[in-house]
Amino acid sequence: MTQSASDLPAPKDAGGGEPFAPEDDSLYFLPLGGSGEIGMNLNLYGHRGKWLMVDLGISFADDTMPGLDVIMPDPAFIAERKDDLVGLVVTHAHEDHLGAIQYLWPQLRCPVYCTPFTASVLRAKLHERGLAATVPITEVPLGGSVEVGPFAVEYVTVTHSIPEPNALAIRTPVGTVLHTGDWKLDPEPMLGDTADEERLRQIGDEGVLALVGDSTNALVPGSSGSEAGVRKALTELIGQHPDVRIAVSCFATNVARLESIAHAAAEHGRHVALVGRSLWRINEAARSNGYMAEVPAFLTEHDANYVPREKLVLICTGSQGEPRSALARIASDDHPQVTLQRGDVVIFSSREIPGNERAIGRMQNLLVSQGIRVVTADDAPVHVSGHPAKDELVRMYQWVRPRIAVPVHGEQRHQQEHAKLAQGCQVPEALIPSNGELIRLGPGGPARVVAHVRAGRMALDGKRLVPLDTGLMRSRHRMVHNGAAVATLVMNGKGELVTAPQVAVMGLLDDSADRDMLLDVVDAVREAVADLSKTARMDDEQVRNAARIAVRRCFNATHGKKPVTEVHLVRV
Ligand SMILES: [Zn+2]
Ligand SMILES: [Zn+2]
Repeated sequence: MTQSASDLPAPKDAGGGEPFAPEDDSLYFLPLGGSGEIGMNLNLYGHRGKWLMVDLGISFADDTMPGLDVIMPDPAFIAERKDDLVGLVVTHAHEDHLGAIQYLWPQLRCPVYCTPFTASVLRAKLHERGLAATVPITEVPLGGSVEVGPFAVEYVTVTHSIPEPNALAIRTPVGTVLHTGDWKLDPEPMLGDTADEERLRQIGDEGVLALVGDSTNALVPGSSGSEAGVRKALTELIGQHPDVRIAVSCFATNVARLESIAHAAAEHGRHVALVGRSLWRINEAARSNGYMAEVPAFLTEHDANYVPREKLVLICTGSQGEPRSALARIASDDHPQVTLQRGDVVIFSSREIPGNERAIGRMQNLLVSQGIRVVTADDAPVHVSGHPAKDELVRMYQWVRPRIAVPVHGEQRHQQEHAKLAQGCQVPEALIPSNGELIRLGPGGPARVVAHVRAGRMALDGKRLVPLDTGLMRSRHRMVHNGAAVATLVMNGKGELVTAPQVAVMGLLDDSADRDMLLDVVDAVREAVADLSKTARMDDEQVRNAARIAVRRCFNATHGKKPVTEVHLVRV
C-alpha cells in the first residue's frame, strides 16, 4: 500500500510553539528538508521524547530567487525543542547534508557526530564562521557506533561520490531504521571500501522496521556504473590529445575523481594543477585523512605556467557554469594565471545539475567559439552518478528487507518510482513523506502521518538568515519583476500639498527619454490627493493609499507594470 498525505484524515497541527512530545513507546520520522526535493536534507527521528537529527544541508538558489545564493530548511520546530535534541549525525560531507550546520547550529547547540573526513570538511567551514572552537564534534570511525540519547547509531560503509559515505543503522527498543544516506554500489570505487554488503545483510537479518532512503536515481534503469570505468575513459581520452593543454572540470568533493584524473595524467607523463579554491580545500581535507597518499602534490596555477602545455592537465572548478568559478573565468579569458587556446580540450567529468543547464551551455558555447574542444559525459563515459539506479535499489532491498520503505532525497516523481520499486521487492508498506509530516513508523500498525509541523525554508540574504516564504522575499521578487517607485508628499496642517509631489522610479524609466512620463505621474498623484475629502486628507493612511494607487495605475496604463510603491508623507 502506498500512502500519501492526501489519503489521510487531516492530522492535527503540532506547530506554533505548542509543546509537542512524541509518545514514549513509538518511533517517529520527521523530514524538515529533502523530501519532495533534492537538496537541503534535514531529517529527525523521535523516540522517548528525544530527537535525533540526521544531516543538515543547504540547496543553492536558482535564478527564481534574485540576490540569494544559499537556501536551507527552517529549523524552527526543532530549535524550539533544542533541549530534547540529543545530537546531529552527519552521513557524509556533501553540501546538501552538512552545508547548513555553519548557519543553523547556533539555534540548535547540539553535539555533532561524523566520520573523520567529514569532520575535516565541517571544521574548515565552521572555522570560516568563527565556530570551530564552539561546535562539539565527535569523530566516529568508519563502521563505528555511538549512543546518542535513546538512539544507538551504527555507521555502515557504502559507496558514493565523496570519501566516507555512510548509511546509518538507527536502533531503538521499538525498532531499527536503516537510513541509507546517499549511496550506490560501486564494485571498484577507487577510493575507500566497497559497500559493506555483509553488514547490511546482517542488519536485515536482525529485522528492520523502515528503510529511509535515497530516491535520486530511482527513474534510472540498470546500475550507476563504476569509478574504475571513468578512470579508464579519462586515461584513453587524455592519450588521444597528445599535443594540447587539457582541462578537466569535476565536482571538487569527488576525491576519487581527482585521483582518477591524476592517474590518467600520469599515464601520459602530464603534471596536474588545481585551479579553484574549493579544490584546494578538499585536497587538504583528503590528504590530512590519508587519502590520495600515492598522488604527487598538485601544482598551483602559478606553477602550471612553467609546464609545457602538452605536459599539463588542469583540474578546474566550474562544472556547473558558476560565474565566478575557475573554468568560467578561463572561458571568458578573465583568469589571472590560466589560459586556454584554440585546439585545447575541456572535459566535463560531471553531470548537469537541473537548473544549471543554461549557465553550463553559455560557458560551453564560449569555449567552443574559441576553437576549444568540449567533451562531456554524452561524448565519452567520463562521469558516473553517485546515486543508486534501479538494480542497486533492488539489491539493497534484498539485503535489508525492511517492513516499510520511506523514499526521501528525491522529488515526487523519484519518490513515487522508488516506492513502486520497493513494493516490487516485497516490502509490505511504502510511505512517501513530505517535509513537515510527522510519521509514526511503529511499533505495530501501518506507518502513518500523525501531525504536520512547520517546514519552511530560510535563505542566506547577504549576512542574514531570512524566511523565504514570507512578505520580505515576495516584495523582493515583485521589485525585480515590476520595478519600484517612491513618492514623497509634503502637506500642511490643512491637508494641502505644500509643494509638488516628488516621485522617484527604479527599474522602469529610461532617464531622459521618459521625463514626460514622470511629470504625468506627478500630476496623477497631485490629482488623487486633491480628490480626497478634507477629512481624508488629514488621515495619513488614506493619503498614502491614494498616492500609491495613482502611481501604480499610471504605470499600469503606460507600461503594463505595477511597481512596488512606497509613499513618504511629511506634515509640516
Ligand atoms: Zn551526497
Ligand atoms: Zn545528497
